[in-house]
Amino acid sequence: MTSYPRVRLYIGGEWRESGTEETAPVVNPATEETIGTVPLATPADLDDALEAARRGFETWRATPVATRTEILHRAADLITERAPEIGRVMTLEGGKPLKEAIGEARRTADTLRWHIEDARRAYGRTIPSAPGTILSVRREPIGPVAAFVPWNFPVGGPNRKISSALAAGCSMVIKASEETPATAAALVACYADAGLPAGVLNLVFGEPADVSARLIASPVTRLVAFTGSVPVGKLLAAAAGQVMKPALMELGGHAPVIVCADADPVEAARRAARAKFFNAGQVCTSPSRFLVHSSLHDDFAAAFVKATEEIVVGDGLDPATTMGPLANERRLAAAERLTADAVRRGATVRTGGLRPDRAGYFFAPTVLTDVPRDAQIMSEEPFAPLAPIVPFDDLDDALTVANSLPFGLAAYGFTESAATAERLSAELEAGILSINHCGGSVHEAPSGGVKESGYGREGGPEALDSYLVTKRVAHRLS
Ligand code: NAD
Repeated sequence: MTSYPRVRLYIGGEWRESGTEETAPVVNPATEETIGTVPLATPADLDDALEAARRGFETWRATPVATRTEILHRAADLITERAPEIGRVMTLEGGKPLKEAIGEARRTADTLRWHIEDARRAYGRTIPSAPGTILSVRREPIGPVAAFVPWNFPVGGPNRKISSALAAGCSMVIKASEETPATAAALVACYADAGLPAGVLNLVFGEPADVSARLIASPVTRLVAFTGSVPVGKLLAAAAGQVMKPALMELGGHAPVIVCADADPVEAARRAARAKFFNAGQVCTSPSRFLVHSSLHDDFAAAFVKATEEIVVGDGLDPATTMGPLANERRLAAAERLTADAVRRGATVRTGGLRPDRAGYFFAPTVLTDVPRDAQIMSEEPFAPLAPIVPFDDLDDALTVANSLPFGLAAYGFTESAATAERLSAELEAGILSINHCGGSVHEAPSGGVKESGYGREGGPEALDSYLVTKRVAHRLS
C-alpha cells in the first residue's frame, strides 16, 4: 500500500496532536479504504492557535519586508521542489489524476511568488494639504486571519489565502479540509521549513462548525476568509457580521455556457468538455449549464459526447487516468440524484449517467440532452461530472436563463461576433467571464463572484484589498 503521512496540527511553530488525541478517518476516494487519520482540535487547541496567531502577527508585521520576502520565496522554492510528493498525497486523499495534482502544486508556488512581489508594491499616498501638515494614506495588514478552505484544490485553495495574507503581513489560523488534510500539512511544512517565524501560520482541523464558531468569535481574528458552498458561506458571513468583522467569501456558482449561432460548435464542445470534466467537475467555476443555439445543438452535443467518451476514468495514480473519482460520497450521491431527477423529467442520457461497477466514488462523465429547464440540475450546482445541454433560439432568452439563478461566479460565451461578445460581457451576471474558451483562473487577475456567489476577490492586485486596511494619517508638524 502506498504510504500516507501522519497528519498533525501546526500551532505556534510546532507540529502536535489534538489535546484529546481525537481523530477522524481519511479515505482514499479511489478505493474507499481508510488511509490515515486527521487530528480534531479541541477548544483549547484553537485558543492556542489564536494566541499563536496574535503573537505571530506582532512578529511578522515587525519583520522587514525584505526578510519576509526572502522567507516566502524560500517557501515557494520548497513547494516547487516538493510538488511531486505533495501531488502524490493529494491524489491519495483527493482522487485527482497525479499529473493534475503535481501541476496544481507547481502552479501554487507561482501564485505565492506573484503575491510576494505584488505586496511589495502595496503603496500608500501623500495628499497635498495645509502647510505644515503631512496628509497620508497608509495600507496596513489587517491582522490575524481565520481561513476555511475545502477539498477540491487541496493545495491551491489553502495557498491562495495563505500567500495573499502572509505577503500582506498578516498571520493566519487556517482550517483546511478534514478530507484532504495531509496535502494542507505538506504545504504548511514548506512555510515552516522556509523559516517562517512561529505563530505566523497555524493549521488546524476539527468539527467545522465548532472550529469556525470559535475562531470567528475570537477578538484575535480580524478577517474571516472562506471558500466553499453558498449555505456555509452565509452562516460564516452571518457569524462574522455579529462581531462586525469583514469577510472574504468565495462561494459556489452554476456557470452558464452560451454557444451562439455564429460559434464553431465542434471547437466550443471540445473546449467546454475539457473544462467540464476537469477535476471531475468539482470546481466552483466549472461550466455546468450548456445553452446552445438550436441550429448548432445537434453538432455541439455529438462533439461533446465524443470528447466525453475519450475520457479515461480511473485511480489518479494510474498514468492513463484523465478523470479520477469524486472526492467523497456526498458528491457521488448528488451526481446520482441530479441525473435521476433529469431523466425522470424527460432528459436523455447521451453517455455516462451511472456509477461504474467498481469500488471508489466514481461516476461516469455524463452528457444529458432534452433536459427540461425545471430539472434540478438546471438550478442546483452539480459539482460533479454532469453536462446538461439545452437549446435556445433567441439570445435574450439564453441571457435570461443564464442570469436567472441567485449565483454569479463564472460564465462562458462562444461567438465569432465582437458585438455579441461585448453584449455577453456586459449582460452576463458573473464575476469571471471567458469568451471563446473555458480556461481556468490565473493569479495575475481577480477571481470572485457576484450575487450569492460571494464577495471579495482572490488573485490579482485586488487580492490584497481584503488583507490590508486603509489608514488616513494627518500629521501636523509641531
Ligand atoms: P459543504 O457545504 O458541506 O462544505 C463545504 C466546505 O465548507 C467543506 O470544506 C466543509 O468542511 C466546510 N464547512 C462546512 N461547514 C462549515 C462550517 N460551519 N464552518 C466552517 N467550514 C465549514 O459542501 P461539500 O459537500 O463539502 O461541497 C459541496 C459544495 O460545496 C458544492 O456544491 C460547492 O458549491 C461547494 N464548494 C465550493 C467550492 C468553491 O471553490 N467555491 C469548493 C468546494 C465546495
